[in-house]
Amino acid sequence: MDIFAKCSEFTAAREAIAGGYYPFFIPLDDTEGTEVVINGRRLIMIGSNNYLGLTTDPRVRQAAMDAVAKYGTSCTGSRFLNGTLKLHLELERELAEFVGKESALVFSTGYQTNLGTISALVGRGDVVITDRDDHASIIDGCRLSYGEMKRFLHNDMNSLERVLQGCDESQGRLVVVDGLYSMGGDIAPLPEIVALCKRYGARLMVDDAHAMGVLGDGRETAAHFGLTKEVDLTMGTFSKSFASLGGFIAGDDDVVHYIQHMGRSMIFSASAPAANVAAAAAALKIMKEEPERRTRLLAIAARMRSEYTRMGFNIGQSQSPIIPIYINNDEATLAIWKALFEAGVYTNPVLPPGVPPGKSLLRTSYMATHTDAQMDRVLETFNSVGKKLGII
Ligand code: PMP
Repeated sequence: MDIFAKCSEFTAAREAIAGGYYPFFIPLDDTEGTEVVINGRRLIMIGSNNYLGLTTDPRVRQAAMDAVAKYGTSCTGSRFLNGTLKLHLELERELAEFVGKESALVFSTGYQTNLGTISALVGRGDVVITDRDDHASIIDGCRLSYGEMKRFLHNDMNSLERVLQGCDESQGRLVVVDGLYSMGGDIAPLPEIVALCKRYGARLMVDDAHAMGVLGDGRETAAHFGLTKEVDLTMGTFSKSFASLGGFIAGDDDVVHYIQHMGRSMIFSASAPAANVAAAAAALKIMKEEPERRTRLLAIAARMRSEYTRMGFNIGQSQSPIIPIYINNDEATLAIWKALFEAGVYTNPVLPPGVPPGKSLLRTSYMATHTDAQMDRVLETFNSVGKKLGII
């Protein structure tokens, strides 16, 4: 048996490319944040995670350029050895303060943050409990751990309680949820989750990749509910509102210190370059100083949610600037994605395994820097394409 046989038998993507409806790996010639250029054509971008529009902010760009000028382009080593700059430590202090925790630890990506944190904490005999809609990086972190993995139904507190009841008192228990769900745009019911974790002696970790800069006062989901002290570990990424690349975990000193010495995805991988760290630090400063960005983002999101619903699109339970348009059929999802793309609107089609079978959707998401005129055009295009394809 040739181990490569599966590669030549994998034809679905090639068929989609040949058929002209392959939506992935499309190279952008240029991006100004709210608009991108693809093959010389300009599209309105409603498929990014650049929620505060900071990737093109002159202050963030300048911070990255200054860091390259001072430190060069790479740390060429792990945080553990030659790859820690004072910049990493300064950012860790600011992040810990931002999310109300004693300490924070910066990883090179958000994905690695979840991998390293969960696999370090969940040892043999322990159990990690995840929401069915948790991000893939959480699931992969669980797979890398030596503990047992259990799941509960999405945002279903009866299901979580049943799983917690099924755990043995002798097992260390960690519940991991997304704060703001990356596909559904809905929020985890932290008050109930915190109460259940307390009742059953479990620790709680919240992945706030999409919540930071967006929810509540722009910090984490816990702050949105006034529960900062009740969440044990807060995880964030720099690849969204922070306009950079990297991630961090924040919590009690002892716990972060342990992850720092056991988190293999940090120890055995090179650290985030100075430019990424400086860009994230500059974005954090702007997030704190300019709350009007978040206000604008939330206003745009509220308008888009209500207009899509009024037109007859199904946006599920979205409460945020992540607005899914549920199509629930793979072919129809690709058809509307393509029609929007050709009409100048960039969205992301999400098909299984990204979502459960029969639940395919278009993921749309918004930026504080989108203009009303751009949003008018998006809505007009959705209206005409949706009618033409018989979706509304
Ligand atoms: N957690 C969630 C909820 C995410 O959506 C993502 C990325 N989309 C990650 C973690 C991984 O973050 P990164 O892209 O920074 O590696």
